[in-house]
Amino acid sequence: MKYNGNIYRPPIEANTLLLPITEGCSHNGCAFCNMYQEIPFRMLSLAEVEEYLGAIRKEYGAFAGRIQRIYLVGADPFALSAARLLERIRLIKKYLPNIKIITMYARVDNITHKSDSDLAVLKEAGVNDLYIGVECGLDDVLENLNKGYKAADIRREVSRLNAAGIRHSDLLMLGTAGKGRGAESAQAMADLENELHPDKILINTMSAFVGTRLDRAIKEGKFIQASERENLEEERDFLAALNLPDTYFWSLHPLDSVRIDGILREEKEDMLKTIAYAIDHADNVNIKRISRTGNL
Ligand code: SF4
Repeated sequence: MKYNGNIYRPPIEANTLLLPITEGCSHNGCAFCNMYQEIPFRMLSLAEVEEYLGAIRKEYGAFAGRIQRIYLVGADPFALSAARLLERIRLIKKYLPNIKIITMYARVDNITHKSDSDLAVLKEAGVNDLYIGVECGLDDVLENLNKGYKAADIRREVSRLNAAGIRHSDLLMLGTAGKGRGAESAQAMADLENELHPDKILINTMSAFVGTRLDRAIKEGKFIQASERENLEEERDFLAALNLPDTYFWSLHPLDSVRIDGILREEKEDMLKTIAYAIDHADNVNIKRISRTGNL
């Protein structure tokens, strides 16, 4: 078995069993992303998935019967049709009979291509805790990022997940709107998230990795990046405007300057104080990070 490409998974799934389902990304066009640039999108065959499951079963022995959560590897395995996902879920349950939650990354347009009854059947089969790359709430920014969808699409499709009872964690990026637009972006993100009721919000800070369109746009002077202080002010304004007491806010990504996390009901005020302290004391030069320019 040889998996083509790097494996990326949300940091908070660090203890979850991983199972390859797709390679590459069905979109592979976001301006800031170089994760799968050289990797064509491909669905692994049922035989390949079964080979991985056989190896997992052999490795874990009797303990395999106690595993309850599995993470499907790929940029967006939810791109597969409901029928294809269900075939793979049946295989997973053959080898790991106690699996209760099947989690993965999903693009907004992956949801568009499924009917409400597809979503209901997938939920019933155990699909839950989808990771959605929302990134931003401003249409012109989403277009510049070439996400392939607008805020209205995000609102409509993620609301359909809510109606099906499928929990989701939304990924948002600081700095997407560029210099001088942090406050506007923070308000748009908060408006969107307050409607979508994510289980978790995962914060990342936009970075210009080599070979990306964003990297070229910065070098050509077509996109002016927000400073680190502006990114923190955007995070502060976003967090302050959230009205989601039960949501877990996670900003511990290696690309984030200030590391905070917690359930909003309990930790929001402390997290705001931490950001305020950083804004007052951070040296804008010193918090420019080398990790923002190479590869993730
Ligand atoms: S950010 Fe996600 S959806 Fe966009 S190209 Fe990268 S992997 Fe694909």
